[in-house]
Amino acid sequence: MRKKNNFNIYLTILLLAGSLIHSAFAKAQTKQREKFKIVLDAGHGGKDSGNRGNGYYEKNIALNVVLAIGGQLEQLDDVEVIYTRKKDVFLELWERADIANNSNADLFISVHCNSHSSQAKGTETFVLGIGGNAKNMAIAKKENSVILLEDNYEKRYAGFDPNKPETSIGLELMQEEYLDQSINLASFIENEFTSTVKRSSRGVKQAIFWVLHRSVMPSVLIETGFLTNNEEGRFLNSKNGQEKMASAISKAVVNYKESIQAVERVALIQKEAQTSIEPIENETAIVDKPISTPGITFKVQVAASKTMLETQPYNFKQLINVTRVRDNNFYKYYYKSTNDYAQARKYLEEAKLAGYEEAFIVSFNEQNIKVPLNQVLN
Ligand SMILES: [Zn+2]
Repeated sequence: MRKKNNFNIYLTILLLAGSLIHSAFAKAQTKQREKFKIVLDAGHGGKDSGNRGNGYYEKNIALNVVLAIGGQLEQLDDVEVIYTRKKDVFLELWERADIANNSNADLFISVHCNSHSSQAKGTETFVLGIGGNAKNMAIAKKENSVILLEDNYEKRYAGFDPNKPETSIGLELMQEEYLDQSINLASFIENEFTSTVKRSSRGVKQAIFWVLHRSVMPSVLIETGFLTNNEEGRFLNSKNGQEKMASAISKAVVNYKESIQAVERVALIQKEAQTSIEPIENETAIVDKPISTPGITFKVQVAASKTMLETQPYNFKQLINVTRVRDNNFYKYYYKSTNDYAQARKYLEEAKLAGYEEAFIVSFNEQNIKVPLNQVLN
């Protein structure tokens, strides 16, 4: 009898411990999922000072801006900030990309300052691409040239010659799937620069940056302005200027994060509606609500590119029924089309199975104009 009692106590303790461990684990998992991870990369550093326009140090300005962005974003509970450097140290480009990839981040932001022999001015935010013009190539060449300062660069950057960025087209494919999200973020950033800081913007651009190549997440490289321009250089070298630029970037990141999460929330509700066997009573109202989408067509976006690709299966991991639409300066590629959102989710799964893990659903109205998915489904 006593023995049995002991056994029961042990069993209870064991079960309790087990459930505690389980709930702690579940909590850690939830927490991990909730955090939005951002890698902030201050360009250059250490022996690589970046450009020295007007005698300023690009590496220092980039670091100050990055630390200010980080300080602001760290105030948010659901954001985790990872820095490639927090001090004046030299980091090789591959190390920066590796930090981003190893942290499994949601976003990669590299901060720089521009230079030119004229009084050129304005901000530019770059996404990776091969469609850049000669001017963008020149900027990319400057930012990539740090590779030449690194040891063993021939081995590490096999196939990537910083003086000939166009030779590395193959590497671009890795980032292609994130291009649309990168452009989205870049637009938010440039909008903030003009609307809240009243800077002049040269817009969202494409060029080949090695540091963007290697990162497998939405990534942008920001040229916060020209140090060689007298006014802009002075502004960027000032604490006030650096803080203003940092606030604009933080705000853009928050806008981007919210736009992504709004779509994810809708997708989650949809998923729950499909998979829940016994929905909790007060949730039924939400999950069972029919989602009426009159006149809306859903398509699964699998890729975006600046160059035009034939919509043949060999270009799209063997997917058939891919269509191409020109959208601003880009070609967007969509897999299938339907008026039924549940069907669209099935197509999305097919695209993911084919290897387009970052594919997402896009909705169009009767005029074939893109409408935000969260508005359609709300
Ligand atoms: Zn730079």
